[in-house]
Amino acid sequence: MSTATMLIGVAYVLSTALFILSLHWLSDPKTSRKGVMSGIVAMAIAIVATWLRPDISHHTDISRHLWVIIPIALAIWPGVWLSLVPITAVPQRTALSHAFGGLAAGLVGTAEYFYWFYHEPSSFTTFRMVAIVAEIVLGYLTFTGSLIAAAKLQEIKWIPQRPWVYPGQNIVNLLALGAAIVLGAILIVNPSADWAPYAFAAVIFLALNFGWMLVMPIGGADMPTVIAILNAYAGLSAVAMGFVLDNKLLITAGALDGSSGLILSIIMCKAMNRSFANVLFGAFGQVQQSKAGGEQKSYKADTPENAASMMEQASSVVIVPGYGMAVAQAQHRVRELYDQLTKRGVSVKFAIHPVAGRMPGHMNVLLAESEIPYSDLVDMSEINGEMGQCDVCLVLGANDVVNPAARYDKTSPIYGMPIIDADKARTVFAIKRSKNPGFAGIDNELYFLDKTWMLFGDAKAVVGELVKNLQGENGMH
Ligand code: NDP
Repeated sequence: MSTATMLIGVAYVLSTALFILSLHWLSDPKTSRKGVMSGIVAMAIAIVATWLRPDISHHTDISRHLWVIIPIALAIWPGVWLSLVPITAVPQRTALSHAFGGLAAGLVGTAEYFYWFYHEPSSFTTFRMVAIVAEIVLGYLTFTGSLIAAAKLQEIKWIPQRPWVYPGQNIVNLLALGAAIVLGAILIVNPSADWAPYAFAAVIFLALNFGWMLVMPIGGADMPTVIAILNAYAGLSAVAMGFVLDNKLLITAGALDGSSGLILSIIMCKAMNRSFANVLFGAFGQVQQSKAGGEQKSYKADTPENAASMMEQASSVVIVPGYGMAVAQAQHRVRELYDQLTKRGVSVKFAIHPVAGRMPGHMNVLLAESEIPYSDLVDMSEINGEMGQCDVCLVLGANDVVNPAARYDKTSPIYGMPIIDADKARTVFAIKRSKNPGFAGIDNELYFLDKTWMLFGDAKAVVGELVKNLQGENGMH
C-alpha cells in the first residue's frame, strides 16, 4: 500500500469519526453548533481526500480535475441560496437537498452502468449489479418523491396539499415498484445483454414514477415524516453507490445518513402515534373539515393587560410554543416575557411537544436562539405530570399539539397523538390570529373551555403587549 493510499485511508476514518460525533452532538441543543461544524469539517476532509486519490490527482490531464472543480464552483451558489431560507422553510429546503442527493446517486449509478456496458463488461458482477439496481431505484424515487414533498411543504399552487387519492392507488403504486424490482432482477442476471440498456432505462422510468406516486397521496401534515423516510432512502442509495464505486467512506456516511433518517421517522411516528404504514398509505389529512351540525361554540377573548396581570400573580406559568411562534418569529419577545416573569419569582417553563412546529426540534432551535436556559425547556412527557399544578398556561401559536380531541375523539385525524395537557392548567391563555384551525384542519376544544381566554393577534405583537404591560407595572412599583 502506498503512503498516499494509507493517508487517504486515515482521512476517511477521521471523516467517519467526525460524522458520528456530528450526529451525537446534534442531538443536544447545547452541542449542536459543534455538531454542525464537525459535519462540515468531515465533509471537507472527505472531498479533499477523495480528490487526492492517486487515480484522480496523479492524472496529468487537467480536464480530469476540472470535472471536480467546475461542479463544486457551480454548486456553491445554490448551496448558499438554500442556506439563507427562513427557518420556517427548512423542511422544504431539506426535501430539496434529499432530491439532489437522490438524483446524484441515480446519475452516478447510471453513468457507471453505461461505462461498464460499453467499455468494461467484465466489471459486471452480480454483487455490483445488485448495488447498482438498488442505487438507481432508491436514488430516482427519492428524487421525484422529495420534489413533491418540497412542493407540498412550500404550498405550491399546482400540487394539492391534501392527499391526492383514487381507488386502487396502493395497488397501482405497488405494481410500479414491483415491476421495477422484477426488471432490476432480470438486469442483475443479464447486465450485458443487447436489450439490457432498455431494461435499465425502464427501471429508471418506473422508479421516477414510483417516487412521486408514493408521496402524492400523503397530506402536507405528514410531509416532515415523509422527508425523514426519504432521507433514509437517500442514505441507503449512497450506501449502494459506495459499493458500486468501492468507496468505504460513502458506505459508512450513507449508512449513518440512512439510519439516522430512519430513527428520526420512527421518533416522529411515535410522537404522532402513527405507524409507518399509516403515514405511507393512510392518506392522513383527507377528512379534515370540522364536524358540521354540532352546536356553535364560542370563544372568549381577553386583553393582554388582564393576561399579564394573571401571569404576574401566578407562581407557575407554562408556555406551550407552536408553529405560530415560528411564523411570527416571536422568540425574542418571549425571552423578554420570560425575563419579566422570572425576575418576579414566577416559575416559567416551556412545554416542548416533539412535533410542535413543522420540523423536529423546531421549538428548541427558536428558543435556543433567544437564549432561554435549556433547563427550562421541558419535554412533553415530563411537563404533563406538572400541568395540574400550573396556574397559567400560555398557548403560543400552538394548536394541534394541545387539542384534547386527540385523547378521545376516534374520528379526529389526530386521534392517539400524545398532547401537552394544557387543559389541566388552572387558567389558559391562547395566542393566535384568528379562529382558523391548526395544521390538521380541525377545531380545538381547548379554546372553548371555561378556563380558556383567547388573545387574538400576531404572536410577536401580543407577547410584546404582555411585556409592555409587565414593564409598565414594573415602572409603577
Ligand atoms: P398548528 O399548525 O397545529 O397550529 C399553529 C397555530 O398557530 C395555528 O392555529 C395558527 O392560527 C397559529 N398561528 C400561525 N401564525 C401565527 C402568528 N403569526 N401569530 C400567532 N399565531 C399564529 O401547530 P402546532 O405546532 O400546534 O402543531 C404542529 C402540527 O404539525 C401538528 O399537526 C403536527 O402533527 C404537524 N407536524 C409537525 C411535525 C414536526 O416535525 N414538527 C412533523 C409532522 C407533522 P391562526 O392562523 O389563527 O393564527
